[in-house]
Amino acid sequence: MLKNKIVTIDGPSGVGKSTISRRVAAELGYTYLDTGAMYRAVACACQQAGVEIEESVALSKLLDSLDIELLPAAHAGDDVGVLLGGKDVSKTIRSPEMAMLASTVSALPSVRKKLTVMQQEMGKKGQLVAEGRDTGTVVFPQAAWKFYLDATPEERTRRRVKQLRIKGQSVDKEEILAQIIQRDRDDRERTIAPLCKAEDALLVDTSILTIDEVVDQMLASVRKEEP
Ligand code: C5P
Repeated sequence: MLKNKIVTIDGPSGVGKSTISRRVAAELGYTYLDTGAMYRAVACACQQAGVEIEESVALSKLLDSLDIELLPAAHAGDDVGVLLGGKDVSKTIRSPEMAMLASTVSALPSVRKKLTVMQQEMGKKGQLVAEGRDTGTVVFPQAAWKFYLDATPEERTRRRVKQLRIKGQSVDKEEILAQIIQRDRDDRERTIAPLCKAEDALLVDTSILTIDEVVDQMLASVRKEEP
């Protein structure tokens, strides 16, 4: 029996989740939810307000008045846009520095609680492709289709470097590899909603497949069961 029309796509950073999730969502005509963008937006909000990334009264106040809006990508292939308190932070949140801050902020229980509820709210209408670290395990455990993407840290570094260079950002390959390894460790070892494969998720190794092959494999798996 079909549970609901939600597709979850989890995996470590730089594995190709965003590109793949956007393509799968577009092919299915589903809404794309980039949960990482929300954690990055919270990190950005903390930085802008000078709030320390730790459980505190200041963080709790910031979360109470959190105003995040996700916008569809301006062009096909772009990341989703993000408004924070009505201001466009789409570019700011994509820096390697903000990625590291997002990883720190995402380990805080109050932050996870707040964003998980917001994400579940967005999933109520169904027809959603949610991408992140815990979308299949915690946010949408009842999702009809779950995928876990993986690739070696070296391959993920190569892709991330290419991506950042295309965006015109200067990058140090060794630094990116170190950040990927650290972010993986932090995301996997945190107590709440750690990065892990849901038992019922399909594991897809993207190191040995092209993006087209991964997308085709996922779409075939969804369409097999879609009414
Ligand atoms: O996916 P992205 O690289 O944009 O995510 C940034 C950070 O946000 C991740 O390293 C992770 O720590 C956190 N995150 C999370 N849970 C999610 C999505 C992202 O903890 N569902």
